[in-house]
Amino acid sequence: MTRVYNFSAGPATLPEPVLLQAQAELLDWKGLGASIVEISHRSAEFIEVAAAAEADLRTLLGVPHDHAVLFLSGGATTQQALLALNFAAPGQAVDYVVTGHWGKTAIRQAAPYVDVHVAADTESTGFRSIPPRAGWKLSPGAAYVHITANETIHGVEYAETPDVAGLPLFADFSSSIAARPLDISKYGVIYAGAQKNLGPVGVAVVIIRRDLLERSGQPRADIFDYRSHAARDSMLNTPPTWNWYLAGLVFKWMLAEGGVEEFGRRNATKTRMVYAAIDGSDGFYRNHVELAARSRMNIPFFLKDEDMTARFVAESRAGGLLGLKGHKAVGGIRASLYNAMPVHGAQALVDFMADFQQRNG
Ligand code: PMP
Repeated sequence: MTRVYNFSAGPATLPEPVLLQAQAELLDWKGLGASIVEISHRSAEFIEVAAAAEADLRTLLGVPHDHAVLFLSGGATTQQALLALNFAAPGQAVDYVVTGHWGKTAIRQAAPYVDVHVAADTESTGFRSIPPRAGWKLSPGAAYVHITANETIHGVEYAETPDVAGLPLFADFSSSIAARPLDISKYGVIYAGAQKNLGPVGVAVVIIRRDLLERSGQPRADIFDYRSHAARDSMLNTPPTWNWYLAGLVFKWMLAEGGVEEFGRRNATKTRMVYAAIDGSDGFYRNHVELAARSRMNIPFFLKDEDMTARFVAESRAGGLLGLKGHKAVGGIRASLYNAMPVHGAQALVDFMADFQQRNG
């Protein structure tokens, strides 16, 4: 068996030790004679797995006690609608800062329920930057301010947590959660689909400052109510047990590897290598994002023309580098360098880039 370096944006590469452990445990969970995903979510066995995953994630991210941690199905997009339903009154103003594709999605999901104000938007300049905070037009009395911490398609990331003048800050961390240390106490809500840095697709992690759960929000069914999910430890209905279990294995792996400080260091090394390869290519490879806003997780870059891009993708694939084709919305190449991508995977990419340039430059 040969495992390739997988640069997919999500679903994405998982740590090999996690896959091996899941494989070893799949048929028989600790002598039970059945797998952990064949038994009730209310069994003592699964509750132990679920609680350990939450405790490990809290340790890994340093989640403060006054924040609840939920494991929910529905992905990140569902959370984008639930934020508006749970935390804003009907028609109340909410502020969105749009720095790429996913910020626009967040607005689309919230718009039926609330009065969306765009506090800042970089679309007219091609989503290449984080708009300076001084230019944001925040609404007095807004229910929250929403940002996309890392734009997975456009490769634009906040270097620092913005100060939003005391309003609750809500952030989509789908593609950058656990990638480096973060002060969670500065956020009202952090949400992330698991399928990039945390595990397989099918579960979303939502971290909510508990006082926000007291907000009445909008009329909604119980199943769309974060308070109900929090009160039932994310087991209001049958949770995605397989995904929760696998994410829990990823948390243990990250802790054993040295936690988010260590991944912050590795990720900085990986991105430094790839951006250096782009910037040192005399224009053969180009990345359009302003230096200060360059993502440390997803690096989109471009070659001269479509033909060359297709050849780059095909040849890299043949050379054991999977998933480098850019998102169709922007084209080109995209290298996603999540926590499970080792530094030598980034080195393999950089080596391939140099070789490809030499043959085609
Ligand atoms: N936000 C971001 C930043 C994303 O990258 C994605 C998925 N790529 C989403 C939201 C949507 O996530 P999901 O497909 O889990 O709904």
